[in-house]
Amino acid sequence: MRALIDAIKTHNYAYYVLDNPTLEDSEYDQLRRSLLELEEAYPDLVQPDSPINQVGDMPLSAFTQVTHDIPMLSLGNVFEYDDLRDFMRRVNDRLSVSQQNPEYEMELKLDGLAVSLKYVHGKFVQAVTRGDGQTGEDITQNAKTIRNLPLWLAAAADIELLEVRGEVLMPKAGFERLNRLAEENEGKTFANPRNAAAGSLRQLDPSVAASRPLAFYGYSVNQGLPESIDTQSAALAWLTDIGFTVSAVEVVQNPRAAQAYYESVIEARSDLPFEIDGMVIKVNNLALQQQLGFLSREPRWATAYKFPAETVMTRLNDIEWQV
Ligand code: NAD
Repeated sequence: MRALIDAIKTHNYAYYVLDNPTLEDSEYDQLRRSLLELEEAYPDLVQPDSPINQVGDMPLSAFTQVTHDIPMLSLGNVFEYDDLRDFMRRVNDRLSVSQQNPEYEMELKLDGLAVSLKYVHGKFVQAVTRGDGQTGEDITQNAKTIRNLPLWLAAAADIELLEVRGEVLMPKAGFERLNRLAEENEGKTFANPRNAAAGSLRQLDPSVAASRPLAFYGYSVNQGLPESIDTQSAALAWLTDIGFTVSAVEVVQNPRAAQAYYESVIEARSDLPFEIDGMVIKVNNLALQQQLGFLSREPRWATAYKFPAETVMTRLNDIEWQV
């Protein structure tokens, strides 16, 4: 357990703080699963510094640190249809008979960096990274350079405080161009678009962020949503109406429909202009979301339905090659 904890912490630091991962996500996920299995088998031995319930890692001290009004958490994971049904069963277990089998809403799981944006009477005032979930980095100046991030929302002028959360990502074409340029100039290349987006947004010089092809996709309204809006799908439609780009949305009524949409997105995945690493499935009704609440690291009303890894690293040991 100690070895796993130390390894996970080292990899968290490289990934979340340095934006420079030192192993594949699938290998990292395996380390987490091994630690979780040990913790479940030996609950008395769970270490006080276990990273299992931790969100992200500490914010970079070079930026002003901002405490989130509402914590920015992570998401639980499911990897196959049976896990998805277990997730839906757990949701049902916490609902009354008349609330059973709620409608779900599905979104693309954008592979970027979570950011909270604040607007006061329609004017963009602050952007903060997720950081460790409680405290993030103030990246307002860099966020201002993101081309599709609205700096003024006429339709929200009468909302005192609007908080929109979403993902900052780097489209695949921009990422490839950036790495090609870096190679030509013998500069540092990025492991993947997610790390390129995170590294670009957490630059001290906003002109560097401005030169990078970043985009913002909204996925939730955490403060200031008009009271007449009562579902996640309507909240995203409203975000689109007032000027944001959001991820594709599908409302489904049962696990089979969710599975069918998930499979159709896997088919279309390589044609998307940006990387996704799964789908996010959310209880659509906002009042039910509130009723279901949160675990320490994730909401009970949503989970990530991850895609199978496209490639897995294999080391060939002790093989005698015959030529
Ligand atoms: P996560 O990325 O699995 O899920 C939570 C995040 O999903 C949210 O914070 C949000 O930013 C994002 N998201 C994207 N689209 C969304 C949508 N439509 N609605 C809501 N949220 C959406 O969780 P995480 O805690 O950020 O990181 C775990 C991931 O990072 C794993 O894939 C893991 O493999 C990887 N990781 C890799 C290493 C490594 O060394 N390779 C180290 C640490 C973490």
